[in-house]
Amino acid sequence: TKSLVSGAKLIIETLLDHGFEAYMVGGSVRDMVLKRNVKDYDIATSAKPEQVQQLFTHTIPTGLQHGTVTVVWGGHVYEVTTYRKESGYEDFRRPSEVEYIDNLYEDLRRRDFTMNAMAMSLEGEIIDPFNGMADIDDKVLRCVGEAPERFHEDALRMLRCIRFAAEFELHIEEQTWAALLAQAPLLNHIAMERVRMELERMVAGANPERAVKLLACSRLLALTKEALLLAHLPQEQLSPGWGHLPEPAVKWAYLYLLVRVTPVQLEQELRKLTFAKQRVEEIRRVVAAVYELAGQPGQSDVRSAQAAGGQPVGTTGESQAVALTETAAPLERGWKLAALEYGAAALGSVIELARRVPQVLQLSGISAEACKLISQHGADWLQEMPVQRIDQLDVRGKELLSHIGQPAGPWVAQVLQHLLRETALQRLANDKPALLAEAERIAKTLNTAQ
Ligand code: ATP
Ligand code: MG
Repeated sequence: TKSLVSGAKLIIETLLDHGFEAYMVGGSVRDMVLKRNVKDYDIATSAKPEQVQQLFTHTIPTGLQHGTVTVVWGGHVYEVTTYRKESGYEDFRRPSEVEYIDNLYEDLRRRDFTMNAMAMSLEGEIIDPFNGMADIDDKVLRCVGEAPERFHEDALRMLRCIRFAAEFELHIEEQTWAALLAQAPLLNHIAMERVRMELERMVAGANPERAVKLLACSRLLALTKEALLLAHLPQEQLSPGWGHLPEPAVKWAYLYLLVRVTPVQLEQELRKLTFAKQRVEEIRRVVAAVYELAGQPGQSDVRSAQAAGGQPVGTTGESQAVALTETAAPLERGWKLAALEYGAAALGSVIELARRVPQVLQLSGISAEACKLISQHGADWLQEMPVQRIDQLDVRGKELLSHIGQPAGPWVAQVLQHLLRETALQRLANDKPALLAEAERIAKTLNTAQ
């Protein structure tokens, strides 16, 4: 971050040397005041975008229509934006026109919250016409100017309001909150992509639990452009501490398990929210793995073993430990099979859920006992699997073809899946001769079945 600061200083210095005004502004000033990690440096200047482009050798015209030029300096990027005023807010979204101005005050006035409307000079002097410092000291989040007007201009600010209040543990000033409640229906003018970006930041942020509470109080999620299942999150069932789940994807999976969506509904919902494909898949796999574990192992497998004349579980006065071992075997098997289907990462996430918020797994149909076993042994079960993916098998599809001497067909994939399962469950050694022999045997049975 040191080099970032000096980079920003050099850019400001360069602008000043050429007779322009330039200040650090917005979130970067706020973060410096709060002694937080500054993620990106925003610089405001009286120089026009073309002038900024002329002054620096490496620039990117990121948002020329909004007056923003990205300056690349020492491997870091800095957003340099010409002082501007926004006008012609249409449809409660970002402004249709920007007007360049030559005064910092007006530029700060268009910003959303007082703590985001401060500037810092090269000498470190804070320019704070809206008393952002006082609000930061009092831990208050307040709109610049008239709150109803500001949310009316740009409804996304309501989500930003909740995000900042949660992230920085701020009290939302009364009139700001009242205006947010009154203007909440305007959120239906905001593109789902922008809604999703704010939600992702809340969930990945410092205090997703507070963010979700504020979202619920404000009813904002019930008022988005497209109907969201997330609007029906049962608040009373949220476990304290869920916000400390390790990865954003696990937190999302947690929330959607509480909403009790099916994997198919989940996929539709996440698509509606324009989540990246990879993120959708990550979340879907965790939720699907939970349902699969709830459906089969540990519970139904035990029951079917009993039905088939196996030892009844925990009914003959054995110790709890014995009962647990009885449950463990089918659960372990189902666990490993789920790892093959959904990937070890998804199962790792299930372990986190089992450890930190077991209630949600029980709500999804996994027994308390299975939960305990998963949190205690899940990681070892994954660890001891000799293979988890087809490419880890000591045999390739091509080798199967030449060894078995049948024309290529879907059987190859089926046989590979079978080999994967058998080696993963340690019923077959992962070495070529053993794999080829088993492949030959199973290919015959496939053949006769077809
Ligand atoms: P962070 O980057 O940590 O999310 P930030 O405050 O830097 O927070 P950005 O979206 O990077 O937020 O915007 C930079 C600055 O631009 C803000 O600090 C604020 O002054 C202004 N700003 C951004 N979005 C809006 C908006 N919708 N309405 C008014 N001002 C805004
Ligand atoms: Mg920022």
